[in-house]
Amino acid sequence: MALMIIAPGTRVTSWVKHLERLEPGIDIRVWPDTGARDEIDFALSWQHPPGEFKKYRYLKCIASLGAGVDHLLADPDLPAGVPLTRVVEHSMAQSMSEYVILAVLNHCRQFDDYRTDQSQKKWQPRIPLLAADMRIGIMGLGQLGTDAAGKLIALGFAVSGWRKTPQTIDGVDCFAGTEALNDFLSQTRILICMLPLTPQTKGILNRDTFAKLPAGAYVINVARGAHLLEDDLLAALDTDQLSGACLDVFETEPLPSDHPFWSHPKITVTPHISSITFSRAVAPQIIENYRRSQTGQPLLNVVDPQRGY
Ligand code: NDP
Repeated sequence: MALMIIAPGTRVTSWVKHLERLEPGIDIRVWPDTGARDEIDFALSWQHPPGEFKKYRYLKCIASLGAGVDHLLADPDLPAGVPLTRVVEHSMAQSMSEYVILAVLNHCRQFDDYRTDQSQKKWQPRIPLLAADMRIGIMGLGQLGTDAAGKLIALGFAVSGWRKTPQTIDGVDCFAGTEALNDFLSQTRILICMLPLTPQTKGILNRDTFAKLPAGAYVINVARGAHLLEDDLLAALDTDQLSGACLDVFETEPLPSDHPFWSHPKITVTPHISSITFSRAVAPQIIENYRRSQTGQPLLNVVDPQRGY
């Protein structure tokens, strides 16, 4: 049987190399050159064409190439009963935490302003925002949110977290459920979205959410573009309810050249790079699940399609 990589627009050479290194002799097919579809029983996927998977009758696993599975669950024709897995990997959490820390410190130490001052040869000391005064609120305390919380606490920030189910984490002020959202937001001066994209979280970064933050709060979105209502963000920046935003993900990617975010003085844009899936680091867990699928053992990092993450 064969493993198919289906990731249109993604260079998959290094995936093939690392998978073959770990499992010599593995039969890898790169979509659309799949050969006989009935020979494929394991799919490694990123942004597949909707409806494609229903053509493969013997799939035992559809593995997301990333930590999120919203790109899979958005397909109304996803075959029922085929397990979905996602990537859970330390290097992804490390890389995401680095990005988040950079964005937080950039805001608190006002580096964007110093960059502008430098371009004007202006010597202008500014009073930094102190870590101890800047409560950070992380939406989503999963693999990524928990790692970032620990590292921000180590830097001296007060950290709150919001999740679906109540659970405590050392040093983090934990809030759970929609009923706790207002309390969570009311004390958050830097809001970081690290939620999965589900029907419940879509559009959660909206005008109501921003209004509940203390005036002048800062927003960082590293989750998915559809979490944010872009016009609501622009309106909240216009009224100074928000002081700025750092965005790595967007409703439309690549961000269109005429999008107002590109030139907005209070918005930092990066091209969906906050955490990258490294094929060398992730290939071992893909091969582990491939072997498990061949021998009927339980798969690792399985996603609950009802829950959406
Ligand atoms: P996890 O599944 O480990 O964690 C998800 C967290 O979100 C959990 O704490 C969960 O709560 C919480 N959550 C889910 N739904 C709700 C809800 N309705 N209300 C409140 N809390 C909720 O995911 P990861 O940390 O691994 O990844 C998070 C997301 O980050 C991914 O889904 C992906 O979209 C995004 N991502 C973005 C990347 C980028 O490059 N920009 C790279 C990697 C990931 P509970 O713990 O109670 O279940």
